[in-house]
Formats: sequence, C-alpha cells, structure tokens
Amino acid sequence: MMHVYLETYGCQMNVADSELVTAILKSGGCEMAETPELADAILLNTCAVREHAEERIIGRVGELAQHKYERPQVIIGVLGCMAQHLGEDLIKRSRFVDIVAGPDSYRRLPGLLERARAEKALDVRLDRRETYDGITPERADGVTAWLTVQRGCDKCCTFCVVPAVRGRERCIPLADLVLRAEKLAAEGVREITLLGQTVSSYTDGEHDFAALLLELARIPELLRIRFTSPYPTDFSPKLIEAMAKCEKIARHVHLPLQSASDAVLKKARRRYTIADYDAVLQALRAAMPGMAVSTDIIAGFHGEGENEFQETCDYIRKARFDFAFMFKYSRRSRTAAWRWQETVDEETKSRRLKTIIDIQEQISREVQQACVGQTARVLVEGVSKREDGWLFGKTSEFRQVVFEDPAARPGDMVDVKVVGATGHTLIGERAGAAK
Ligand code: SAH
Repeated sequence: MMHVYLETYGCQMNVADSELVTAILKSGGCEMAETPELADAILLNTCAVREHAEERIIGRVGELAQHKYERPQVIIGVLGCMAQHLGEDLIKRSRFVDIVAGPDSYRRLPGLLERARAEKALDVRLDRRETYDGITPERADGVTAWLTVQRGCDKCCTFCVVPAVRGRERCIPLADLVLRAEKLAAEGVREITLLGQTVSSYTDGEHDFAALLLELARIPELLRIRFTSPYPTDFSPKLIEAMAKCEKIARHVHLPLQSASDAVLKKARRRYTIADYDAVLQALRAAMPGMAVSTDIIAGFHGEGENEFQETCDYIRKARFDFAFMFKYSRRSRTAAWRWQETVDEETKSRRLKTIIDIQEQISREVQQACVGQTARVLVEGVSKREDGWLFGKTSEFRQVVFEDPAARPGDMVDVKVVGATGHTLIGERAGAAK
C-alpha cells in the first residue's frame, strides 16, 4: 500500500480539490500520511496565479527532495495549476519532480503514482467535461465545508492564468449539489461555501446562481451559505433580491475590483467600468445594510500611470472595503498580457502596493473598531487556542469572533456582545442563544 502526503497551496478551490484528490487516492488503495517522513509519495497541490507562488513551490520541492536521498524510491508530484501551467518544463526546472498532474487529471492519479515508480509521469490534459462527478470529497470533520459548484473560467482577463490552467467554465447540476449539501448537513455541517472562479455566473442550463442559493437555503440544518468569488457584473438584480430575502445567505461578498481606473480595467479585459462596479456595490449595500464587502486589487498593471493609480486609491477610500487582498502585477505566460511590454517598473509597483495596503489597513481597523459594542450572531466553529473554555466562530459578515462560553458547542448559533477588537479578531461576551 502506498502512503501519500499531500500539501496544499493557493486558493480555497485548491483546498477543496485536495479533498477530492484525497478521496480519489483512498479509493485507489492509497493511505494518507501525516508527515512527509511517513510517505512513499509527496504531492503538492499548487497555484500559478503569481510567479512568487511558483517560486515557492520550486523551493519546497528542493527541500522535500532530502527525503529522496534517504529513501530514493520516494515520489514527488506537483498537482494543480502550476503543474498545468508549466507542464513538462516543470520536470526540466526541477529534476526531483516525478509527477506533473493538472486540475483535470486527478481521476488518473493512482495510475500516475504507479507509473512514477518507473518513469516521469505527466498528465496535463484539460477536459471541459470533468466535474469529478460521482466522487465525494474527503473532508476533515467540522461545521464548515466547501462545495465546488463550478470549475474553470470563461472570463479571460488579460492578466490571469486561471482560464489557461483550469480550462473552460463548467457547472455541476443543481440536483447533484443539493444531494451533496444534504449529505454534508446530515454529517453536521452548518455552513457551506460555494466555490467557483466566477461563481455568480453559475448555470446548469436550467438554474442560475440565485436559484441555486435559494434551493440550498431550504436545507433546514444548513444555517449559513457563503460563496466566492462572484464576478462583479454577474450580480443581477434577481441575485441581489434572492440574497436579501434569505437570511441564511452570508452578509459578505468578495467582489474583486482589480483597479478603479477604467483605462486599466479595459486593458485587463474586465467587463465593467468603475461606475458599473460601484453600482453593484451600492445595490448590495442598499439591499442588505451593514453587508461586508472585500476585494482583490492589483498594483501596477498595464496602463496604470500615477493618475490611474490615484483613482484606485480614491476609490478604496470611498468604498471602504472590510478587507482586501492586494498584489503586485505578476506577468504570467499563457495570458494575453504576457506579450505586452510591462509599463510599470518593479520599484513603482512595490511603492503603490504599500500605499494601497496602508490605506486599506487603516479602513479595516476602523471597520473592526466600529463593531465594538454591537451584538453579533456567531456560528461557533470550534475551540479557540486563546484560552481554556473559549470558542471561535464567524459572524455572517465573515468577522472572526472569540468568546468564552461553557455551554455553546461547535455548530451552535449564538449572540455575542462584542467588547473588543484586536487585529483581525473580535473579542466577545456571550449575550444569549440565537432564536
Ligand atoms: N476568478 C477569480 C480570480 C482568481 S485569482 C476572480 O475573478 O475573482 C485571485 C486574485 O489574484 C485575482 O482576483 C487578482 O486580484 C489576483 N491575480 C490574478 N492574476 C494575477 C497576476 N497575474 N498578478 C497579480 N495578481 C493576480
């Protein structure tokens, strides 16, 4: 029997894919190992969105190669987006890599492991029909779970490698998702997060994303439904209305902005202007007052001069996002922008990144502080490491709360009075059981 150690990098979808990979490996007769020392095969599920992510993996493979010196038969495999992105070149860049398997190749992993005993095994076939239908992901216990509802991406933003490495968009039929969610609920899951690259464009040919949300919300044991990431202009009035009328749908959306300059958005082939984006943001906040909104921003993309950059700074101040993930533009092969000469130098990118991080951090702190004194409804997720008897959970707005409560259990929904805020965590006191 082969023992496999699996390490995951990148986005939530990779975390969910690793649950799939674990299920496939186990049904193929493998056992999962807790540490690389105990493994016959070491697999890394990887990200390709920025160069830095890939460099880290090359470094990690080098570190893990020490196991080969001690046990030469150990197999090292790179899975996921970076595997798909670099393909055979990955084996050239690191001779320690024995398996290269892209996001649509996971069903064939047990065979690839077998092959890798004798030769390098490469499988980067994209398959526009692969949804991993019929495989139940192997998840850790707990009250939260991922549910992949869409794979691939059809948006083709010029900076982004995702469509090249995850292939065309495909969605899992609503009926299958409901069955899966019911099963999760029966296992004790109380919160599910729907995953897709542009999840709000979900359609199974018959049902749209609003229909999917409302259908899943009918499962009585599910107390909360989240999703990530929606594409800004796929937020139809119908979807906003569906969210507003259903309290189970989290009062938080992650709405990737990228830039607030129309010139840059156009270069990026985002399908909206800043006015369109802002209209969606305003409509969401009008329909659901107090809703939290987070975003992604790229510093230093094509066409971003000082004026365009200022537009982004101004918009960050105006929008008052709850939090944001901010990145320096990283030029990726197999994207449209790869062919273009870069317009912003590294130093300017770094300075701009620091500027927007500073602006946003201040806003995030103010938003956090404004929660103090309020009562928050928290879904308890587990026991906090902070102190004995303390629990942690999240509010509908995706705020992390820790509080002391001898009576509450993971999966309970409780009302907590927020008495303090530190960094990214709110400190609470038990206020009562939620109705
Ligand atoms: N499909 C998702 C994006 C996934 S990648 C969406 O549109 O929401 C997550 C984030 O990484 C993107 O929103 C973007 O801000 C950032 N990103 C993607 N490509 C990048 C690149 N080449 N350089 C820097 N950041 C990038």
